[in-house]
Amino acid sequence: MSKILVIGAGGVSSVAVHKMCMNADIFPEVHLASRTKSKCDAIAASVKTRTGRDVPTYEIDAEETPALVNLIRKVGAGLVVNLALPYQDLPIMDACLEAGVHYLDTANYEPKDEAKFEYHWQWAYHDRFKEAGLMALLGSGFDPGVTSVFTMWLKKHKLKTIRTLDILDCNGGDHGQAFATNFNPEINIREVTAPARHWEKKPGETGDWVETPAMQVMTEFDFEAVGKRNAYLMYHEELESLSKFNPEIERARFWMTFGDEYIKHLTVLQNVGMTGIEPIRYQGKDIIPLQFLAAVLPKPESLGETTKGNTNIGVIATGEALDGSGEKTFYINNICSHEAAFEETGNQAVSYTTGVPAMIGTAMMVTGAWSGAGVFNMEEMDPDPFMEMLNAHGLAWQVAELDGPVGF
Ligand code: NDP
Repeated sequence: MSKILVIGAGGVSSVAVHKMCMNADIFPEVHLASRTKSKCDAIAASVKTRTGRDVPTYEIDAEETPALVNLIRKVGAGLVVNLALPYQDLPIMDACLEAGVHYLDTANYEPKDEAKFEYHWQWAYHDRFKEAGLMALLGSGFDPGVTSVFTMWLKKHKLKTIRTLDILDCNGGDHGQAFATNFNPEINIREVTAPARHWEKKPGETGDWVETPAMQVMTEFDFEAVGKRNAYLMYHEELESLSKFNPEIERARFWMTFGDEYIKHLTVLQNVGMTGIEPIRYQGKDIIPLQFLAAVLPKPESLGETTKGNTNIGVIATGEALDGSGEKTFYINNICSHEAAFEETGNQAVSYTTGVPAMIGTAMMVTGAWSGAGVFNMEEMDPDPFMEMLNAHGLAWQVAELDGPVGF
């Protein structure tokens, strides 16, 4: 399994490939393929300069399953790390099944014509992966990914049950641009313009999603190493897996910070129809407004050099303490510096905080620390070896007991 084929050549892939090549003992051979080969070559050149390692590169449209099967066989890969876009998840999973190799990604499948973040399409592959004796690990980024592992670490070491869970994602970085997204603009804008949803369940009942309009519910939170920021209630895919694998949770919410400038620009773009995903006819051709907008916005991988400041992403969980001392609240988080991330890998912290966990999830599979046959979410695995690697590979975390549950 130690021969890896990474698909996609954006910011997240760049970080993951750099970090894999910095750990030759776990990853003796890393190959990189994407739609635009020149982007793979640029990553390979940076890796060569920084680590001295060679990364063979290939051009592939990952939605062309037969071509991808051929590439996997040609490379002799044992594990495909999907760092392309969520649209490619299912064709890449199909190719892995056909070629008989393991699979990992950082974001759940989304159909192109509907902004819907749900795991059911990928969970439906469970039996096929199981029968083939292959493992597919879903969502090994930061959120989802580390936030899921943080929660399960609290559940293993601090809390017997979790009553309420709040995920707080703050990017306190300033890139000096009027408006830019810190990861793929199309996926980012689809995510933030979708209605907010959070999980609520009364004790003894089955629970359900509570929907509110996008970017309407807001709270101010004082983030260490960043300061006070407005955090907005949003839907995020790990809420689905966290509430599935922790059925006792009575309320699970996800909050992300946005500055006033970001909201002002996004509101205008939305009001004029630029964030739409329905095709419109333009000069005799069908174009999708959001894809056109993404093409004119700054590329996330170009923001690394100018972005200053920190990210601070973590989980606050309240529940019954493991030691029987009653209800307790813990906050577990990571602070990541944009400048340090750029110095190490040439990418800003949002790519770094996703690419490092992608490397660690892959390491869990390669080393056998995490194993299984079927499709798995991060919540189903032992958090300890993953948490140890976070500390050792650039994403140190801290945990603190708070006075009581969140007041918002
Ligand atoms: P980018 O847009 O920077 O990179 C995506 C890459 O995928 C590009 O190189 C693109 O090619 C390539 N690609 C797109 N379509 C295809 C295709 N059909 N075949 C082959 N390659 C293709 O995105 P990011 O690096 O910012 O994000 C990568 C992934 O990480 C996304 O799925 C994103 O949702 C996820 N993510 C997860 C996070 C988490 O915490 N879990 C956080 C942030 C991101 P081209 O260069 O030609 O456009």
